[in-house]
Amino acid sequence: MKPFAFPGIIEDDILGIASQQIPYMRTSWFSGLMKENECMLLEAIGCRGGRVMFFTSSGTAAMEAVVQNYVAALGKAFIIDGGTFGHRWVELCGYHGIGHESMQIPFAEDIDYGLLEERMVQYKPAVLLCQHHETSSGQLFDLKRLSDICQRTGARLAVDVISSFLAERLDMDELGIDVAVTSTQKGLNLPPGAALVFLSENALKVDFLHNNYYLDFQENLRNLERGQTPFSPATTIFMQVHERMRRNMETGIDRIVAATHAKSLYFRELCVRYGWEIPACNPANAVTGFFVHRNSDILCNELQKHGIFIMPSGKPHFFRVSHMGCDTREDLDELAATISEIENRP
Ligand SMILES: *Cc1c(COP(=O)(O)O)cnc(C)c1O
Repeated sequence: MKPFAFPGIIEDDILGIASQQIPYMRTSWFSGLMKENECMLLEAIGCRGGRVMFFTSSGTAAMEAVVQNYVAALGKAFIIDGGTFGHRWVELCGYHGIGHESMQIPFAEDIDYGLLEERMVQYKPAVLLCQHHETSSGQLFDLKRLSDICQRTGARLAVDVISSFLAERLDMDELGIDVAVTSTQKGLNLPPGAALVFLSENALKVDFLHNNYYLDFQENLRNLERGQTPFSPATTIFMQVHERMRRNMETGIDRIVAATHAKSLYFRELCVRYGWEIPACNPANAVTGFFVHRNSDILCNELQKHGIFIMPSGKPHFFRVSHMGCDTREDLDELAATISEIENRP
C-alpha cells in the first residue's frame, strides 16, 4: 500500500515497534524514554528552556488545550482564519466563550500583513492564533512577519505547526513563538494518536486556567517532571516518537527539511508536466495541493484500487499529496502517471 495521505509511507521497522508486546509505562525505563523524547523535540524546534507536554489525542485536542488553559488565562485572541484549520481556532474560541476577532484569508492566498497589523492595533488581542501551514490549501504563512507584528502590537504568538514541524525550518525562540502544537501523524510521519504542546520559557510563566481535567497544563507539567503523563499514554506511539526523533537528530533537522523540500519540488515538476495547477502562492513542503481537470469524482476510489491514497478536499477537483512519508521519486513518478491515466479515461 502507498499512502500519499498523512502520515505518509512509514518504514517497516518503525511500524514494527507497534507490533511487539507492550511494556508497562509506570517504569523508570518509560520515564527515561519520555525525557529523551522531550529533549530531542525541544532541540528540533529550537525551544530552549521550554517544555513539551504529551497528550494521547489527535492534534485538535492539543489546540483545544491551548485555548482552555492558555488563551482563556490571557484574554482575547486574534485569529488568522486561513482555511479549515484556521477556522478551527475560531470555532474553539467561540465554543469556549473566549473573545476573538478573525481575519479570513481567501483560499490559497497569503495574508495581507499590513491589514492584519491595523486590525491588531485596533483590537489589542493578548494572543495571535494562526497556522504556519494551512494544510487545507497547502499555503505557508510567513511566521517571521507574523512574529514581527506580534512584537510591535504586544501580542503573544501561538502557532499550530501540526503540518510544518520537521517539514519547514522552524525555530520557536528565533521567532518568539510562545506556544506551538503538533501531532504525530504529520511531520513526525507516525501513526495518529498523540499530540504535543510546546511551551516556551516565557509561556511557562503564565498562570494557566483549569478548565479541562484531562488536558490540564499544570497537572501535565507536574507529571512531566518525572517523565510521566497523568493518564495512560499511547505507549507504543511514544516509543515510535523516540525512534523517529533519534534518527532525525542523527540525520540533522536541516537535512530532513531539505529532503522534504526537494521531494515537493520534484512532485510539483510532475504537476506542471501533467498540466495540474497548484493554487498556493507560497506552497509549503508538507503537501502539494493541485487541481486536476477531469474525472475528479472517481479519482480517489480508482487510486485505491492500486493501493494508493491521496487526500480529497471540499473544493471540486482539488487534491493534496503528502510529502512526509519515505516515498521515493519512482513512487512519485508512478503516482503521477496513475493519476494522469485515470484523469484521461473516457
Ligand atoms: C492535521 C491538522 C490538524 C489537526 O487535526 P487532527 O485530525 O485533530 O490531528 C490541525 N491543524 C493542522 C494545520 C493540521 O494539518
